[in-house]
Amino acid sequence: MLEDKFWHNYIDGQWVAGSAPPINVINPATGECLCQQAMANARDVDSAVIAAKKAHASGQLTNMRPVERARIVQAMGQYIAEHTEEIATVLTLEQGKPLWESRIEVSGCARFFEYYGNLAESLEGQSIPLGHDYMDFTILEPYGVTAHIIPWNFPFEMAARSIAPALATGNTCVVKTPELTPLSSAWLARAAEAAGLPGGVLNLICGHGTEAGNALCEHPDVNMIVFTGSVNTGMSVARAAANTVTPVILELGGKSAAIVHSDADLEAFETDLRYGIFFNAGQICSAMSRVIIHESLYEPFIEKAVKLARSISVRPGIEQQEDGPSMGAMVCEAQRDKAVAMVEKAILQGAKIATGGKALNIPGAYMEPTIIVDVRPGMEIAQEEVFGPVLTVMSFRHEAEAIELANSTQFGLVGGVFTRDLGCATRAARAVRCGQFFVNEWFAGGVETPFGGVGKSGYGREKGREALLNYVQTKNIAIRMSGITG
Ligand code: NAD
Repeated sequence: MLEDKFWHNYIDGQWVAGSAPPINVINPATGECLCQQAMANARDVDSAVIAAKKAHASGQLTNMRPVERARIVQAMGQYIAEHTEEIATVLTLEQGKPLWESRIEVSGCARFFEYYGNLAESLEGQSIPLGHDYMDFTILEPYGVTAHIIPWNFPFEMAARSIAPALATGNTCVVKTPELTPLSSAWLARAAEAAGLPGGVLNLICGHGTEAGNALCEHPDVNMIVFTGSVNTGMSVARAAANTVTPVILELGGKSAAIVHSDADLEAFETDLRYGIFFNAGQICSAMSRVIIHESLYEPFIEKAVKLARSISVRPGIEQQEDGPSMGAMVCEAQRDKAVAMVEKAILQGAKIATGGKALNIPGAYMEPTIIVDVRPGMEIAQEEVFGPVLTVMSFRHEAEAIELANSTQFGLVGGVFTRDLGCATRAARAVRCGQFFVNEWFAGGVETPFGGVGKSGYGREKGREALLNYVQTKNIAIRMSGITG
C-alpha cells in the first residue's frame, strides 16, 4: 500500500541509508510487510550528533531573533497540518489505530509547533539588584544538542511534544524514532525542510533501542535527553546519562485510576470510559486503566461498561474514517499477546472477566475490549501497566479507601475523580499521587497544561509553558561597573 519501499534516516539535511541491517515495517492490521526502514548503528548516531553539534555551534538558530525561530517552528506546524491525510494514513498503517484517531494525532502534533512557536518570543531572563557597583542579569541559553527517544504509541505527536520546544529555544535535535512505527516521523523532516530549518538542526534516525538508542544516550556530545517509554528502559537511559552528567526528562508508564463517587453522572462517564481505555486500543501512558467505583454504583456501572465494550467494533484502522465506538489493531502481535497473557494471569489469581479478554481469531494484532472485575489491589493486573484495551474495576465504600486504592501502585502519572461534590473533588486532587489530575473529564487539558509523572512514572514535565524551561539553562552575568570605562 506504500509506494516507497525503502524509508531513509535523515542526518545533516540528507536522506541516508543506515549502517545496521534494515528492518521490515509491519502493518499490524494485516501482518503484512509495508516497507523497509533504514536502521542506524552507533556510527550513524555519531554522525547525527556531530551534525547537530555543528549546526548548533554555527549559531544559525541561536543568533536569530526569537521571532524568526518562532516563524520557522510555526511553519513546520502548518506544513504538517496541510499534509494531515497522507501522514494519518501512514500512521494508521504502521501503528494500527483508526484513521480518525491518526488525524487527531497529526493535528495534536501541528498544535505543538503552533503553541511553542507562539511561546518562543516569551522567554526572558531577569535583572537582579546587587547595589550601585554592579549590574546583574540572567540569560536563558539552550543546551545545545538534545536527544529525543520516542515510543511507538503516539510516535508523531510524542516527537513533536519535545522537538517543538527544543527548536523554539534554539537547540538542535537528534530524534531516535521507534522501531515499530518509524515512518510517520519522515514528515517532521519534510516539515523542517519546507520551513527552512537549516540542515543538521533536526536529525531523525531509526535504530534498535539497545544499539542506536543506547549509543545516543551515552554520547558525550549530547547535552540533554528527553526519553518517553517504559520504566525499565527509562532507568537504563538515566544510568547512561549519569555517566556523562547529562540531564534527562523521563516520561514513563502509568496505571492511572478514576475514582467514581456515588453522586457521579454515570451516563456522562461512559464517554470518559470509551476514550480513557479504548482510544488507541488502550496503548496510552495516561490511560484510565483502573476504575475505583463506589459500591452503590458497582453493578449498574459494570452493566454499562460491558455494553459499551461489546459495542466497540474492532477492525482495520484504515477502514475507520469517522469517530465512533471503534478500535484498530494493537501495535504488534507481541504487544497483544503480552496483554492477553496478563489477563490470563489475572484470572488464575482470582479475577473475573466481565467481557473480552481474548485475541481476535483473525489475521492482525487484535484484542477484544476487556473489562476485568473481582480485582484485588495486590494482583499484577492492578499493579502493572497492561498497555492494551483492558480495564480493571474495583469498588470502595469510604472516600479514604478510594484514595488508598488509587495510590496503591508505584506509578503516578495521572488520576481523576468523578463527583458533583467540590469538596470531595479537591480532597482527591490533593491526595492522589500524580502529575496531572482530572475532575469530571478524563484527559481534560491540552498542549498548554504541564504533563508528567511522579514515582515510577518518571520526572520532569512536558507540555505547557513549564516545558520550555526544560530546554534552557540559566546563566547569570554580573558586571562590576567600576571596572568599566567610558
Ligand atoms: P520502550 O521503553 O520499549 O521504548 C521506547 C524507546 O526507547 C524506543 O524508541 C526504543 O527503541 C528505545 N530504547 C529501547 N532500549 C533503549 C536503550 N537501552 N537506550 C535508549 N533507548 C532505548 O517503550 P515502548 O514500548 O516503545 O513504549 C511504551 C511505553 O512508553 C509504555 O510504558 C508507556 O506508558 C510509555 N509512554 C509514556 C508516555 C509519557 O508521556 N509518560 C507517553 C507514551 C508512552
